[in-house]
Amino acid sequence: MRAVAALRNLPHGFWHGVDRCLDHGRGAWPYCVVAFHRIGDYGDELGYPATGFAALCRYWRDHYEIISLDQLLARLAHGDVAGAPTLSVTFDDGYRDNHDVAASILDGFDMSATFFITAGAIGTERRFDWDAGLAQRPALMNWDEVRALRAAGFGIGSHTLNHARVSEVHGRELERELVGSRQLIETELHQRVEDFAYPYGLASDCGTEAREAARAAGYRTCLSCHGGLIEPGVSAYELQRVCVSPRFHARPRDWARGYSRMLWQRGGRASLRAAA
Ligand SMILES: [Zn+2]
Repeated sequence: MRAVAALRNLPHGFWHGVDRCLDHGRGAWPYCVVAFHRIGDYGDELGYPATGFAALCRYWRDHYEIISLDQLLARLAHGDVAGAPTLSVTFDDGYRDNHDVAASILDGFDMSATFFITAGAIGTERRFDWDAGLAQRPALMNWDEVRALRAAGFGIGSHTLNHARVSEVHGRELERELVGSRQLIETELHQRVEDFAYPYGLASDCGTEAREAARAAGYRTCLSCHGGLIEPGVSAYELQRVCVSPRFHARPRDWARGYSRMLWQRGGRASLRAAA
């Protein structure tokens, strides 16, 4: 019943996209996976303010079915078709605010999430190069904090050992980044790790070689980060994510507009395929 009430409350503009989507004869909803990095007022593209994050979580809780990565993979494996908008939440890199800030907000809304950690940097003083311009370079989690996330029911996945661009490393080095990170997390968590998110995650980072290397390294899924929704039936090794940005998704209504646009584009592609 909550889902029905939520659908009634969708903001103006949302249904425009939905209508266009359904007009193209595709009643099935796509799956959506969002990606965050840091939660806090950092003033850059990778930091999403905590109050805004809470507002987005509230909006998603009310308007989407929130599913874990496990649930998403099971539905894809079974060929299930989503009857309502679904959303899965992920985080990349392993920032400490994921544990200190994001987890309690997610918990407050009873939302699942998966954290993809840069395994070789966890528990070290290492700071990422792209954070050099920030007033205070954000810290990464230690292993106790990662274990606390897992104990709270969140998923933990690999984001390589050293935030390697998978398309640019090869052979033994690539194997070390993929297998070594999985083994390190498994040793620290005493649990199997099966999910992988490409650092950077551009389309050019997620080619056939990278995909096959991740499969050979024992992962069951690969997540990119170059935008787009996930169609039912897509391979678990080719899951796209939408990076949530304070510039483009500052408020829930901005998210709703962007989501509507993605649905519209999806409808357009389907129409072109049907006409071909
Ligand atoms: Zn990353």
